[in-house]
Amino acid sequence: MAQPDTLVVGQGLAGTTLAWSLLLRGGRPLVMDAAARPAASRAAAGLLAPVGGKRLALAWRAEQAWPAAVRFYREVEDRLGVELLSEAPIVRLFVDPQQRAEFDRRASGPLGQWLVAEDAGVDPRVFFAPLGGCQVVGGRLDVGRFLDASRAEFARRGLLVEEDLPADGLRETEHGVAVDSLGSVLPRVVLCRGLAERDGRPLPFEPAKGETLTIRAPGVSEGRVVQRGVWLAPIGNALFRVGATFHPGAADVLPTVAGRRELESKLGELLRLPYEVVDHSAAVRPIVRTRRPIAGALPGRDRVGVLNGLGASGTLWAPWLAGHYADHLLSGEPLDREIDAGVRLAPG
Ligand SMILES: Cc1cc2nc3c(=O)[nH]c(=O)nc-3n(C[C@H](O)[C@H](O)[C@H](O)COP(=O)(O)OP(=O)(O)OC[C@H]3O[C@@H](n4cnc5c(N)ncnc54)[C@H](O)[C@@H]3O)c2cc1C
Repeated sequence: MAQPDTLVVGQGLAGTTLAWSLLLRGGRPLVMDAAARPAASRAAAGLLAPVGGKRLALAWRAEQAWPAAVRFYREVEDRLGVELLSEAPIVRLFVDPQQRAEFDRRASGPLGQWLVAEDAGVDPRVFFAPLGGCQVVGGRLDVGRFLDASRAEFARRGLLVEEDLPADGLRETEHGVAVDSLGSVLPRVVLCRGLAERDGRPLPFEPAKGETLTIRAPGVSEGRVVQRGVWLAPIGNALFRVGATFHPGAADVLPTVAGRRELESKLGELLRLPYEVVDHSAAVRPIVRTRRPIAGALPGRDRVGVLNGLGASGTLWAPWLAGHYADHLLSGEPLDREIDAGVRLAPG
């Protein structure tokens, strides 16, 4: 095996996407992850939603991120021979007259190019849609399968080290970064550790806890994601993910009674049919200040970089972000200043 040129620490959405982006450009990544820690990616519903939030606002850099994400996941599907991405419109049912009015005002503007249909096209016996709705461009990634199949492929190619990087596990030398546990020196290291980066690194995290339910609803045959207050995402066998709560500040991963109550209350305004809750989980979104993702060398540490801050949009942002960072690492393309860790983390 050729000597690796980049150690990617962490195999969540950030690390996995970066490792693939390097590989697809002829780089030689080595991925380190013991898979023993809680990972936000394991909780993600995998929605790719260029149009989001109550105001139907366009996600940051949606114009670049959406096509980059579709291209990237299709390419990885080809490499792995598994299906990962389903492209299907997301149904937005209006929650109140203000949202309806906002939509009517903006549908003929920039929002228009993300509209698939100006009606919701849902079965009124299944969903409450008193104010109507619309369908916007979107998709869903099977995140678990993406991570597992990629991990197996990295292992098959000898590119995976199943270890946790200790807090003092890196030493920068004249020739590169010495990784004590590997007994070797690599040209560079990129830390993709999600919220674990809080321990000792200067990322300005503003994390937000999210809880989700998995329900069984045998009467619901809808194959698209439907959203009204909460989203309902089909995952097969009459099962649906429901989510997510958004609680800034909370950083534990314990499902709560209040969280379940909040989700079920909103679900009651979306779904008319009976269901049974079969699972309830919680995780924390790695959001950093300004709510933009971040990538690049840490200030004063040319050979140690980060890729983080994927927030609530990891599946949408990661391919564009990782591709951009990989171009920077391998071809010297300048980093976009809005994401550049060197700029964002510079003192003062
Ligand atoms: C409830 C919920 C629902 C969500 N739904 C969506 C959604 O529908 N769509 C969407 O786009 N986003 C969603 N998100 C956001 C998404 O989960 C995150 O943006 C994304 O998972 C962040 O990925 P990451 O790789 O940065 O972090 P993580 O997934 O946390 O990965 C970090 C990795 O680093 C590893 N690691 C940590 N420390 C070390 C160490 N010392 N040594 C080695 N490895 C280490 C961990 O094992 C882990 O594998 C959701 C988040 C939550 C909480």
